[in-house]
Amino acid sequence: MDIQKMQFDTLLLHAGAAPDPTTGSRQVPIYQNVGYVFKDTDHAARLFNLQEVGYVYTRLTNPTVAALQERIAHLEGGAGAVACSSGHAAQIMALFALMRPGDNIIASNRLYGGTVTQFTHTIKRFGWSANFVDTENLRALEAAADENTKAIFCESIANPGGYVTDIPALAEIANRLGVPLIVDNTGATPYLCRPIKQGAHIVVHSTTKFMTGNGTSLGGVVVDSGTFDWSAVAGKYPSLAEPDPAYHGLNFHETFGTLAFTFHGIAVGLRDLGMTMAPQNAFQTLLGIETLSLRMQRHVENAMKVAGWLDTDHRVESVSYAGLPSSAFYSRVQELYPLGAGALFTFAVKGGYEACVKLVNGLELFSHVANLGDSRSLIIHSASTTHSQLTDEQLIAAGALPSVVRVSIGIEDAADLINDLDQALTKATQ
Ligand SMILES: *Cc1c(COP(=O)(O)O)cnc(C)c1O
Repeated sequence: MDIQKMQFDTLLLHAGAAPDPTTGSRQVPIYQNVGYVFKDTDHAARLFNLQEVGYVYTRLTNPTVAALQERIAHLEGGAGAVACSSGHAAQIMALFALMRPGDNIIASNRLYGGTVTQFTHTIKRFGWSANFVDTENLRALEAAADENTKAIFCESIANPGGYVTDIPALAEIANRLGVPLIVDNTGATPYLCRPIKQGAHIVVHSTTKFMTGNGTSLGGVVVDSGTFDWSAVAGKYPSLAEPDPAYHGLNFHETFGTLAFTFHGIAVGLRDLGMTMAPQNAFQTLLGIETLSLRMQRHVENAMKVAGWLDTDHRVESVSYAGLPSSAFYSRVQELYPLGAGALFTFAVKGGYEACVKLVNGLELFSHVANLGDSRSLIIHSASTTHSQLTDEQLIAAGALPSVVRVSIGIEDAADLINDLDQALTKATQ
C-alpha cells in the first residue's frame, strides 16, 4: 500500500515502522548503539562525504530515531524531519541553518515562556536577535522585517493565552518577504493542525508534550516542508545554498534539493551541535504517537467540558480558551482548527494572585507541574514559574497575568476533573 495515500490514523502506527529487516520484529526496536560497522574503507569514505546515505554514528543517525523522523515527517506532510534532544534544541537547530551573526527573526509575542527567554537573551550570544510583534497586527509584522530578517516564528495554538494563530496570513507575509515561516506546533500536534498545509515552511515540536503524551521523554523535532527555495536570493541562506568547506565545497540545496534543510540538520546541525535524541526516547515517542488521535480527541473533549464549566462558575473571573464561543478566536478555530482548540488554557480566579496560589495548593487530582500535554491533568501558575523571567509587558502579551492559572487538561474522566476544581475553588475563594 502506498504510504502517500494512507490516512492520518494509519500513519500514526505505520509510517516509518516497517518490520525490522533483520529479525522481523513488528515493533520498532531500540537500537541502543553508537557505532555501525562499515563494509570497507570505500563505504566509510562515501558515508563520510555524504555520497551515500547510511549509518555512521548515533550522534548523526540511528535507526530508532530515523523511524520517528520518518513518522513525524509523514504526519506533518513534510519532506523530511530531524529529531533533537528537546523542543528547545529543535528551535536552535531550525534557526542554525538560516542565521548568521547579525541576522534576526520576527517572533510572535505570544510564545511559550522558555522560548521568549531563549529568543530574548540566549540567541544574542550567537549574534542573532528576535523582533517580537503582535501577530494579530499583520501590518506591524511585515513592517518589522529588514534585510537581515531570515524567518518568522510563531506557535499554532499558543501557550498559554488561549490564542490560535492565523497561519495562512503569516505564510503570505513570509512569502512576500522571501523568508520561511516556522511554526511551533507543540500545542496543536498534527492531529489538530498541519501548518505546512496552511503554508508554513518549517515546523518545530517539543515532542516532550502531547506527541509522547506520557511525560516520560524529552524530545524535539524539526520538520521541513521542502517547499522553500533557499537559492532564490544569492547569499541569503549561505549555509544551505553556498559551498560548505567542511564537505569539500558541497552545496546542500544543489545536491539534496527538497531535502537540503533536513540533510544540513543532520550532517552539520547534529554533527556539530550534538543535540541528538536518545534512541530510548525516540522509542517512547513512537509509542506515544500510536495513540495521538485517540488522546487528542479526549483532550479536546475534556477541555471543552472543563472550560465550559469554569466559564459559568461564579468564582471564576474569566476563561481564555479559543474553543469557547466567547473567545475572540472562536471563528478562526472553526475555520483553521476544526478538530478543536487543544487542551491548554488559562483562567482567572476571583481574588487574584492569592486565590490562584490557594487554588493550585488545594487541587488533589491535578498535578502542579512545569509541563504540559501529559495524559494527566496539570496546572501551573505561569506568572510565578514558567513565565517568571518575563517582564510585565511580556506577561500581558503572553496572557500569563498574576491572577491567571494555566491548565493542561488530561484524558481522565472530565467529571473528576470538574469535582477537583470545584473543591479547590471553594478553598481558594472562601
Ligand atoms: C515545552 C515547549 C517547548 C520547549 O520544549 P522542551 O522539550 O521542554 O525543550 C517549546 N515550545 C512549546 C510550545 C512548548 O510547550
